[in-house]
Amino acid sequence: MGEPCVLLKLGEVVLKGRNREIFEQRLRSNIKAALKDHRVDIRQRHGVIALFLPAGGGVEEAEAIARRVTEVPGIVLVHLAWRVAKDAEVVTQAALELVKGHAEAMPRFAVRARRRDKRFPLTSNQLDFKVGGAINDAYGFPVDLSRPELTVWIEVDKEEVFLFTDGRPGQGGLPVGSSGRALVLMSGGIDSPVAAYRMMRRGMHVDFLHFSGIPFTTTESIYKAYALVRELDKFQGKSRLWVVPFGKAQQSIRNSGQDRLAVMTQRRLMLKTAEEVAQRIHAGALITGDSLGQVASQTLANITAQDGAVELPILRPLIGLDKTEIIAEARRIGTLAISELPDEDCCTLLTSRHAETAAKIEDLKQIEKRLDAEELAVQLADSIQAYSLDA
Ligand code: ATP
Ligand code: MG
Repeated sequence: MGEPCVLLKLGEVVLKGRNREIFEQRLRSNIKAALKDHRVDIRQRHGVIALFLPAGGGVEEAEAIARRVTEVPGIVLVHLAWRVAKDAEVVTQAALELVKGHAEAMPRFAVRARRRDKRFPLTSNQLDFKVGGAINDAYGFPVDLSRPELTVWIEVDKEEVFLFTDGRPGQGGLPVGSSGRALVLMSGGIDSPVAAYRMMRRGMHVDFLHFSGIPFTTTESIYKAYALVRELDKFQGKSRLWVVPFGKAQQSIRNSGQDRLAVMTQRRLMLKTAEEVAQRIHAGALITGDSLGQVASQTLANITAQDGAVELPILRPLIGLDKTEIIAEARRIGTLAISELPDEDCCTLLTSRHAETAAKIEDLKQIEKRLDAEELAVQLADSIQAYSLDA
């Protein structure tokens, strides 16, 4: 009945006017990288991308490709489709074959044809009618145009006709790499992986920076961060993780007294260190998993004090989300189970029962002066260890 293939519908990419070419090109190259273990031919059709298998490629292979590309940002819908010759009889036979598996369920059905090539001898309506009639004759399925349980989609293209009944959602958003680079401050928690995902989906390629309490904590949090980055890598590829041994710096913060301001001082030092690293890898922004009011360090005053620590913009894609929404997304993207593993985050070294909710910048600057925070941030950036993911 033709060859199995995969059709991709693009969302916002299509809206980009003259930049569209560049976006589509980027998306095709991301798809190619994601499918490096498969042999596929990536073809641009009008407004859709078609993935063709080499001759003899089977449905399982197409299925595996369809599953993989649902993870690539920039695609709204993924169809496992059949590619057939541009001939109304062939199309009809293929449609009969396509719905055969549903014969027992007797679904209410509809046929929806679209022509991207208007020279096809039948109009869309005529094709609907012809194919719909044949299905009804062959299997007795009732036609229901308003609320069908099964829809046979037919897309008449320039060189071929595509048929499919299936459509699974992609990630949406923009192709990774179309919005620049950023550095994610990545804890082992639930929020920061979701924040990273959100910005990848807006077209950023991100790298990851994790602060570990070593030598005063175990290495568990590093393994967690590594596992999270591995999971997130499916969305962008070429992810890099760096780990900052942060224990000694935290000790200095604790020794500087000022218990109430310790958490904020630590957070600002993390940001300064991240900014230093970002400059070295040419990242144009920092990303955190902050959500307004979730914890003491995330009050408006404290967020303002964090912004004041660095010159790079701090992107906080989760700022207006509830924890339940963040958890649901973490589950969907596959990071929740990893985040829920027990660990000893560096932050557990420095928690205060009386954390300041309205830290004053002047007070923080005093402490930082005594710590020589700017110099400390450079030293910390010098001490990072790389964990690359070229698996
Ligand atoms: P998360 O679930 O991401 O850990 P959280 O709700 O626990 O967030 P905080 O612990 O206050 O909130 O951290 C706020 C943000 O600061 C995190 O989302 C992350 O971006 C950054 N951050 C916190 N701890 C670390 C760490 N050990 N290494 C790197 N970044 C961190
Ligand atoms: Mg945390």
